[in-house]
Amino acid sequence: MSTQKCQECLAPFEPGRPTQLYCSPSCSRVSRDRRRAEKRRATGRATRQTLVAVERANAQEKLLQAESNYQRQLRRESALAEDKFHHAVLERDRTIDQQLTQLRHLAAVNLDLCGELAEAKAQTTELRLETARILHSQRGDAQDLMRLAARLLQLTDHLGIPLDRPTAEIYRRRGWPTTMPARTR
Ligand SMILES: [Zn+2]
Repeated sequence: MSTQKCQECLAPFEPGRPTQLYCSPSCSRVSRDRRRAEKRRATGRATRQTLVAVERANAQEKLLQAESNYQRQLRRESALAEDKFHHAVLERDRTIDQQLTQLRHLAAVNLDLCGELAEAKAQTTELRLETARILHSQRGDAQDLMRLAARLLQLTDHLGIPLDRPTAEIYRRRGWPTTMPARTR
């Protein structure tokens, strides 16, 4: 039998079995306990690492979810805003079209009125001239008539023939004297 080194205390010993690694049950127990403790520590470390990894993954997933939500909302909002803008532009174009139509109509009406006004002005001028002509002619007629009446009164007075009744009536109606003033006789 050859000596062997104890794996725990490193002391030389003579193994009873070929697979014996420790010098004593005490060293075997110490070694086993240490290995178990190491295993527990390793498991604890692994568990903590796993937990951290899981939490990190969760956080990352949440972040991705939030970002995706944000992107979706952004797309929705911008689509809505674009729609609203488009609608507003259409509405404004329609209003402008209506106003233009109205303006064109008013311009046409205005043009018609201008034409009518010019025509009315021309007619008024013509009527004014016509009235002036008539007034002038009437004044001339009235003067002629008065001259004739005065002459007739003079002649009837001279001849001693009084005015007949309808003629005297005309004189009275016009406010002319029907007898010659006394001093001219
Ligand atoms: Zn030992």
